[in-house]
Amino acid sequence: MTRVDHRHRHRERIAEVRAGHSAEKVPYPIRIRETEVVRTCPVGAGLIRVTLGGPGVAGFEAHAPDEHVKLVFPDPDGTVRLPEPNGRMLRWPRPSPTSREYTVRRHDPETGEIDIDVALHGPGLGADWARTARPGTVVHVAGPPGGLIVPHTYDRYLLAGDLTALPAIARWLEELPRTAAGWAFIEVADAAEEIPLSAPEDVEIHWLHRGERPPGTAGLLERAVRGVPVPGHERLYVWIAGEAGELKPLRRWARTELGLGPGDHDVTGYWKRGVADFDPDHDPAPDGHG
Ligand SMILES: Cc1cc2nc3c(=O)[nH]c(=O)nc-3n(C[C@H](O)[C@H](O)[C@H](O)COP(=O)(O)OP(=O)(O)OC[C@H]3O[C@@H](n4cnc5c(N)ncnc54)[C@H](O)[C@@H]3O)c2cc1C
Repeated sequence: MTRVDHRHRHRERIAEVRAGHSAEKVPYPIRIRETEVVRTCPVGAGLIRVTLGGPGVAGFEAHAPDEHVKLVFPDPDGTVRLPEPNGRMLRWPRPSPTSREYTVRRHDPETGEIDIDVALHGPGLGADWARTARPGTVVHVAGPPGGLIVPHTYDRYLLAGDLTALPAIARWLEELPRTAAGWAFIEVADAAEEIPLSAPEDVEIHWLHRGERPPGTAGLLERAVRGVPVPGHERLYVWIAGEAGELKPLRRWARTELGLGPGDHDVTGYWKRGVADFDPDHDPAPDGHG
């Protein structure tokens, strides 16, 4: 089967899920690409946008607001060890090269550019790389491995998260139909970290200010999200991402108090306090993902 056939297959599946009743993760053919930094610019006080381009971006596909790529970094001695194509997947060398996950904030097939918005937290390999990235800096990009395809037929959408979730929430709000209704809750330090959002008129935007408290400790998202008056007779989709520990009560709330099935919510720890290179798929916590 040719590559064109493969591409067609996952696009068909995306269209089927989008037209259906509940959400599903659809895998895409995954590739590794050499890209280079085209430019960087601040997005509010908390994020830096790194725009990637170059011939390696050709054929990149973006379909879902929370899809992510891995930036693959060289070993400390400068050696670049990359995964190899293996059918529709990648075969990763052992031990795995150092990488960090970021949301595809924007892909423009016309200009061949990919934007990723990186949270400027304290020291961290990815955050430090973004701070110092300059036009021409080469970086390898793996993915996206697939995307969470959510039908646009829910009565309401509840989106919530911190700075690491803001790129996905911004894309969610841009891509929802203009008739969509719901709420978005975003925890930031203060008003300087707020950014313009292009939201449907009936989606209420709530910025939650954490002030001096460190990220992942304030519990603001839980209080705000639990306070939402969810009408019992309506179909709700819940999407939440942020610090893994803070999200646990919200995952339980979605599952047990709202009674949402797996296809009607996605609550994912994007990072974990005190843990470098946190991987939500290998979180030892029993309810780390989903
Ligand atoms: C699917 C997915 C999509 C993601 N999308 C984005 C995105 O678009 N933008 C983005 O910025 N992040 C995103 N993240 C989160 C990002 O991958 C993590 O924050 C990652 O740990 C950052 O790597 P680092 O090298 O900067 O820090 P690390 O080396 O991993 O961690 C160093 C220290 O910093 C702490 N830390 C890590 N992240 C934060 C934070 N945000 N605030 C405060 N302390 C932190 C860690 O607990 C650790 O103590 C995403 C994660 C996933 C799983």
